[in-house]
Amino acid sequence: MALASFKNTILHNLVSKPKTRKVEKEYPVGTRGQVVNDMDVCVLCGLCSIKCPTHAITVDKAEKTWSIRPMSCIQCRCCVDNCPKKCLSMGTRFQEPGSDKVTKTFHQSEKAIAAQEALMKAAKERAAAAAAAKAAQAAAAGNAPAPAAQPAPAAKAEEKTEEK
Ligand code: SF4
Ligand code: SF4
Repeated sequence: MALASFKNTILHNLVSKPKTRKVEKEYPVGTRGQVVNDMDVCVLCGLCSIKCPTHAITVDKAEKTWSIRPMSCIQCRCCVDNCPKKCLSMGTRFQEPGSDKVTKTFHQSEKAIAAQEALMKAAKERAAAAAAAKAAQAAAAGNAPAPAAQPAPAAKAEEKTEEK
């Protein structure tokens, strides 16, 4: 009896479609795969690193690098939601299985560095212009004619004394 049931199961499995899904091709909507950063846009502000609950992200402003330890990432999406430049996304491909605790490091692109330097230069120019305008305003206020002089209180007292 058990052997017949076993044979039926084998025959059924041979002719029926697989019950599993080909995950390499069909990723369900909302799949949270590995975190992907567009280094052409990232300004290395470090907010993603601060918000990451597992400290999987490291930002090195001096070296201009953004690093992630995939084995520490829990795919919570917190970094993606908090990135002010919207350069982070959850890739739909799952992490390749492995046992090595690797750190993936990415360099800020030349394009991003140039854009950031241009922004900083523009901000400095705006600050210098504002400071110059303020100084000019202060100088103009210093050269303005003084208000009409009021008689001194001591002189008034003298006048009163003479009248008596
Ligand atoms: S990925 Fe976004 S939040 Fe993280 S350092 Fe770059 S710009 Fe900042
Ligand atoms: S998805 Fe979550 S755990 Fe992974 S790097 Fe982003 S904030 Fe950290």
